[in-house]
Amino acid sequence: MILIRKEVSDFMIKIDHLVKNYGPNCAVDDISFEVKKGEIVGFLGPNGAGKSTTMNIITGYLSMTSGSVSIAGIDMLDNPLEAKKHIGYLPEQPPLYTDMTVEEYLIFNYNLKHCSLNRDKHLAEICEVTKIKDVYKRVIKNLSKGYRQRVGIAQTLIGSPEVIIFDEPTVGLDPKQIIEVRNLIRTLGKDHTVILSTHILQEVQAVCDRIVIINKGKIVADELTENITRAVENNRRFSAKICGPQKEVLSFLKSRPGIVYAEVLAQRDGDAYTYMIESEVGIDIRKNLFFALAEKKWALIGLEALGMSLEDIFITIVDQTGTKARYERKTKASNQMKNAAEAEVAKKMIEKKTAAPNSEVEKKFSALFGDDEAENK
Ligand code: ADP
Ligand code: MG
Repeated sequence: MILIRKEVSDFMIKIDHLVKNYGPNCAVDDISFEVKKGEIVGFLGPNGAGKSTTMNIITGYLSMTSGSVSIAGIDMLDNPLEAKKHIGYLPEQPPLYTDMTVEEYLIFNYNLKHCSLNRDKHLAEICEVTKIKDVYKRVIKNLSKGYRQRVGIAQTLIGSPEVIIFDEPTVGLDPKQIIEVRNLIRTLGKDHTVILSTHILQEVQAVCDRIVIINKGKIVADELTENITRAVENNRRFSAKICGPQKEVLSFLKSRPGIVYAEVLAQRDGDAYTYMIESEVGIDIRKNLFFALAEKKWALIGLEALGMSLEDIFITIVDQTGTKARYERKTKASNQMKNAAEAEVAKKMIEKKTAAPNSEVEKKFSALFGDDEAENK
């Protein structure tokens, strides 16, 4: 069997303070993360974020400016040949020799990797897993993009590496092929450690256990998929179509508890206007809004969640981590306050949004946790 039993234990991939400069431009800016054995990690980021650069370094195809990468405990700089034996890599542009048949291509790769497993048996198992048996004797250039991608994936499995790295594996595929390739990656993830890069959030949500988000060469989030999904699903922006006098409706919306922002989005349609509403994190305003508007006899004739772009997601996640860090700092400061009365004031300060220090105790607390407003600018 080509597959290796899954054991979630120590780190399979360790990236430590990795930097890559292209001349004066920094493509990867001091990133560190680890991947445990058996994990499927999604490396998510917009175009130009530094995903391919990072993956090319992890797989030993590109040199790093500084930092270190180790695979299965083997340092990529010290022992690249040994480290590479543990990795199967599907680059963004799969290196397919399109004039070869699938069989010729896989044998070519088998030889290239100096694979010692029984060749025919090993390749037959790989073709079974990647479902390319039907096209084994066909010339690669005549295959559909979906099949070609699967041949590319088959190539990564030669030699039974524990780690497989996929760079944007579904780009250019049609929806049916995307599902097939995602399913295949999910299957491989049961027995391998996988890193998959993509700029599509749904892709990592569908396939990965954990998501590392990279933007402009820096890691901006490293979270379990369920946490990111929660942050995203906690959708805070709606468009609401409401019948009623525009100025009054707008100021009413702005005054509602749980609504942090409201603006007019679209022009009049009959007596209705469309508003963009943003709610506080963790508060679902929809039901209350419906009844409040009904009481005013302003009919709510449309309410729609506004989708989140990758940029919005970064902002949400970075904002939430920032908020959390500030909260923890404040709590720590309040714990340093001497007596119960001081702690009580400190607690109120945490709860209060605008924390202008009035009393001496409040001033002391502010001095301890610093000036948040300045920090936010
Ligand atoms: P991603 O895969 O996330 O789209 P890349 O790793 O390809 O991002 O690129 C990261 C940044 O590095 C981009 O700004 C890109 O223009 C730049 N870059 C990538 N490859 C090179 C190169 N060979 N020479 C100079 N700049 C490069
Ligand atoms: Mg790329």
